[in-house]
Amino acid sequence: MSLHIETPLLASRPMSLASGLDIWLKLDALQPSGSFKLRGVGAACEAYARQGKRRFVSSSGGNAGIAVAYAGRCLGLAVTVVVPETTTERARELIRQEQAEVIVHGKAWHEANALALSLLGDDDAYIHPFDDPLLWTGHATMIDEVARAGFKPDAVVLSVGGGGLFSGVCEGLERNGWGQVPVFAVETQGAASLAAAMRAQQLVALDSVNTVATSLAARQVCQRAFEWSQQRPVYSHVVSDQAALDACERFLSDHRLLVEPACGAALALGYAPSDELNRYQKVLMVVCGGVTATIDQIRQWRAAC
Ligand SMILES: *Cc1c(COP(=O)(O)O)cnc(C)c1O
Repeated sequence: MSLHIETPLLASRPMSLASGLDIWLKLDALQPSGSFKLRGVGAACEAYARQGKRRFVSSSGGNAGIAVAYAGRCLGLAVTVVVPETTTERARELIRQEQAEVIVHGKAWHEANALALSLLGDDDAYIHPFDDPLLWTGHATMIDEVARAGFKPDAVVLSVGGGGLFSGVCEGLERNGWGQVPVFAVETQGAASLAAAMRAQQLVALDSVNTVATSLAARQVCQRAFEWSQQRPVYSHVVSDQAALDACERFLSDHRLLVEPACGAALALGYAPSDELNRYQKVLMVVCGGVTATIDQIRQWRAAC
């Protein structure tokens, strides 16, 4: 038994008609915590619990923190999530709903993270949102499920923040013998840290990030993500916030599922494929999900774009 569930894999008629491609959705928006994060976070928390850890500490006010809180409750272990003042009341409430302790500290994430690290004792495990091999191995189960279902994609589309999802999917493709299947790595313009690294052919820290896709707002991708981009076929693709938001609204209407703009970024490429993606036929779209944005918030952002 794992903490994550096996999610549906289904053909998207609306997206296939819009794109002219054969698009299949891996619906990780349906994970109990609302995003793919539970795959890796759940696997990491189980591993740390086996090592005897008694508490999980996170500094993510987003889907990673929510997944840690969910995992802790399921495993019967304490969870503390330190978030900065900028974290929405909604996100704090979602974490508290999972019985985790929420500590609000600092104006920006690095201050919250510094406090989280200072709290760590011998019995505590710090759960990173994207940079831990345990996370990647957990995320890779998504591709195991696709392979078991008997579907081999010609290309995979996903979104990239810190690159944990991307690293896990690359690992999953590799371990299923699909190392040559290209990955389309999508970011929004204000947070295109993988695109910058691939252009520079080395890790790049952006001066600032600015996007409505808050779950993609990592100034730098993890080293492993950069390495994968140099070792296998990867296409970087950057979309506007507007395109990500439009895709959220359209996906809600097409599939009755609300996802964050972070996920909408990848969906945008499915609705409007690039020339590179048009060279492939069977496309696996990773619907990574995300629970921190409401439809009202998405519509406000759209109006302001
Ligand atoms: C975390 C997250 C991402 C990005 O994942 P990384 O591992 O940071 O690249 C994308 N979408 C959603 C909804 C997320 O929660």
